[in-house]
Amino acid sequence: MNITPIIDKCNEFFQLKLSEDYFNIVYLKDRKEIDKYYGSKTASRLIWFTNKKDTVYILDKENFETESDKKYIPRDYETTIKHEIVHLCFRHKTWAGRPIWLNEWLAIYLSGKLEYRHPNILKFSEFLSFYYEGGKSVYNESWLIVKLLIEKFWTETFKNLIEKIKLLNFKQKDFEFLFKEIYWFDINYENINKYL
Ligand SMILES: [Zn+2]
Repeated sequence: MNITPIIDKCNEFFQLKLSEDYFNIVYLKDRKEIDKYYGSKTASRLIWFTNKKDTVYILDKENFETESDKKYIPRDYETTIKHEIVHLCFRHKTWAGRPIWLNEWLAIYLSGKLEYRHPNILKFSEFLSFYYEGGKSVYNESWLIVKLLIEKFWTETFKNLIEKIKLLNFKQKDFEFLFKEIYWFDINYENINKYL
C-alpha cells in the first residue's frame, strides 16, 4: 500500500517533517504471529495495533477472514492503516497521544473515514470522559466536537492547541487549562453545547 499521501497529509496538518522511511507497516500472517508481536494471547477481533513509536502491525489480507472474525473489505483495510498512521503522527506531535477523543477524531478525519460515522448529536455528554482511555463510544461525539472546534473557530486556533499539547504534563486538567488559554472558555458540556 502506498502510504505517501497520508504521510503528506499528516505532515501538512501537524506541521511535521516525517519521511516515509520513519514508518513500518508489518503484515502479520496469522493469529500466532499477532500474539507473538502483541506480547500476549489476543482475541479474534484484534486485527491491528501500533507500538508507541513508528510501527503499525496488521493482519495480512490473505488470511484476514480465517484468522479474525472480521470481513475483509479492501477500502476499510487501507483506511485502517491510514488511521493508525495518523495516531502515530499525533503521538509524535504531542508526545503522549492525549486527549484520546481528539486523537481518535483526527484519525477519522485525516484518514477519510468521517463520512460513515455520523450519529446525530443533540447534546454533548460524554466525550470528556475519553481523555486517558478510549472506549466503544469514543467516536460518537468526538467527530462533532472537533468539527465544531475547527468550523466555529479558526483552524489556526485549533492547530495552535495541538501545537502546545506537548508542553503539558499530560494530565487532563493541564489540557483544560491550555484549552481555556487558547479558546477563552472552559471546556465543559455546558459551554460546548452552546455551540451546537
Ligand atoms: Zn483509532
